[in-house]
Amino acid sequence: MLTVIPEFLTFTLLIFLTLSFRYLAVSGCLYWFLWVRRPQSWEKRRLQNIDKYKHDQHYKKIKTEIKWSILSCLIFAPIVALMMEIIETGNTKVYLNPLEYGLLYLPISLFIYLFLHDTYFYWTHLWLHTPQIYRRFHKVHHESLNPTPWTSFCFDPLESFLQAIIIPILLFIIPIHISMLVVLLMLMTIFGVINHTGYEVYPRSWMRGFWNQYCITPTHHTIHHHKFNCNYGLYFRFWDKLMNTDVMKK
Ligand SMILES: [Zn+2]
Ligand SMILES: [Zn+2]
Repeated sequence: MLTVIPEFLTFTLLIFLTLSFRYLAVSGCLYWFLWVRRPQSWEKRRLQNIDKYKHDQHYKKIKTEIKWSILSCLIFAPIVALMMEIIETGNTKVYLNPLEYGLLYLPISLFIYLFLHDTYFYWTHLWLHTPQIYRRFHKVHHESLNPTPWTSFCFDPLESFLQAIIIPILLFIIPIHISMLVVLLMLMTIFGVINHTGYEVYPRSWMRGFWNQYCITPTHHTIHHHKFNCNYGLYFRFWDKLMNTDVMKK
């Protein structure tokens, strides 16, 4: 026991440093490319007027977003560390042999996880928008009326906790191969960052077709930051469409 606690704390610290570094590196690169370098070819894909935000307030906002995001990494780290420790004990439904449930189950399980995570996100996000809860726990994220890549992890600690616990809970209920869990965690980060770039990054053909019809895009999520009362989903537009909260007009 005496050696287990320092080991767990060291492991948690390592995960915290990894998450923080990944956030700073990915958001930093995207911010530099899209907001500082601003390639001409990307100008038409911009979802907001950058020049309006190129002032002291903008940089002050980014500093605050980075502080909240690092705090989010501090909340995520022990949860991820605990999740990895429990997976190692074999007490979850995470399995290592890809043939255990058949190859077809691999993409199916990934989709089930994405759908359930999206469902959980939609309803908790809607709850976070009830006036009293919003002021206390979700305002931090919406201080960024015009999101930048730095906004992707900018949450109040309670929101970070709420968002971090769902996957570990599902791991006790629904079988998933370890590789699909890695893909899921990657997709979670990719969607989180991409949706806050402030640019429509998906190809125009995707925006005219299936992808935009069913999936959340930066355009969709930026409208959430502008209007507050629509577009609550994370990956899919399913719940927004079903509950009449889907808006695509700015
Ligand atoms: Zn919101
Ligand atoms: Zn957002």
